[in-house]
Amino acid sequence: MKCRHCGSELRLPLIDLGMAPPSNAYLTREQLDLPEKRYPLRVLVCESCWLAQTEDYVGAGDLFTEDYAYFSSVSQTWLEHARNYVASMCDRLHLGPESLVAEIAANDGYLLQYVQRRGIPCYGIEPTKSTASAAREKGIRIVEAFFGKKLASDLAEKGQRADLVIANNVLAHVPDINDFAGGVATLLKPGGVATFEFPYLLNLVRENQFDTIYHEHYSYLSLTAIDRIFRANGLVAIDVEHLPTHGGSIRVFAQGNEAATVPGAAVKTMLAEERQAGVNGSAFYSGFQSRAETAKREFLAFLREQKKTGRKVGAYGAAAKGNTLLNFAGIDSELLPYVADRSPAKQGKYLPGSRIPVVDENRLWSDKPEWVVILPWNIHSEIEAQLARIRDWGAKFVRAIPRLQVS
Ligand SMILES: [Zn+2]
Repeated sequence: MKCRHCGSELRLPLIDLGMAPPSNAYLTREQLDLPEKRYPLRVLVCESCWLAQTEDYVGAGDLFTEDYAYFSSVSQTWLEHARNYVASMCDRLHLGPESLVAEIAANDGYLLQYVQRRGIPCYGIEPTKSTASAAREKGIRIVEAFFGKKLASDLAEKGQRADLVIANNVLAHVPDINDFAGGVATLLKPGGVATFEFPYLLNLVRENQFDTIYHEHYSYLSLTAIDRIFRANGLVAIDVEHLPTHGGSIRVFAQGNEAATVPGAAVKTMLAEERQAGVNGSAFYSGFQSRAETAKREFLAFLREQKKTGRKVGAYGAAAKGNTLLNFAGIDSELLPYVADRSPAKQGKYLPGSRIPVVDENRLWSDKPEWVVILPWNIHSEIEAQLARIRDWGAKFVRAIPRLQVS
């Protein structure tokens, strides 16, 4: 396979998570009778541009169906993050009624609603029908399409270039990263700023976050890689900051590569730190596989012990990352009988691969398990507060990543 950015042959493995179904292909009861397609889930690193990327396989496009959609507004922590982001960007860029803000992958309008409340003109780009409809119900203008250079040119021609282009938590999920970055460059007004947020490769490797790997998550990004990708596509990274989201993300600020655009001190510092950490050398990437296997073994041993001693275990959070862990560890409903989740779109369905049923939160209150496994560990504090009642009957929370831990 060739690198999605620079076309070099990919040889350096980061991790092999075996065969897995697409992580968002939740199953209906009827689909349980049918075989599930599984695809290799492997990440390779380009030794030329240092882009870590999932391996390509034939037929992937057919499987990423539209009938399941993640609604961003379900998580309170996430809404708070969006509100703070909008406040800080309005200050930084002095946005007002004369400005225009565009968000790529606007989802259900969870973020643009805060832009709109400030009286700043804005629109979203969102290909998924169900979330686009939810955004429109909030009164937000939505262009229902996939984003890339072509769409950006069309929008620019219609006078839709923006002072702020928001591309938060989408860059890592696009297969053609060059087309996406080039599109952002086209959509920016001269002097406009784009922001990109994505889970940080250094956290992935150091914190053993192997469960954030799934097929639809194409790229695992360092600043080293993204700086190069931006430059090749008409953008320059001008600033960067660390964020606590998704177990450790970074937010990169970029502008078009006009003559005056230069990287700020924070960009230079982080690039130097990454060089120091060895991001542009193969040794940094070794050992990840065995650390993932250790976490898997510990979690499996824990579940088997509970089964043997007759203690009840439930799980919370039917997130994509949970699916990667469960499938990598070969866990099914024998060891983990259900996963509770607040999202009505997932309740009544079954997790892909493991086929564990997704149930209403009330199941925890009636079942009273002794352990509640939190699958989306990145928001464990929010979930522990939400489910604090389990302490009334002496239950405890468990997380498997980076290592097995009880709280
Ligand atoms: Zn490359």
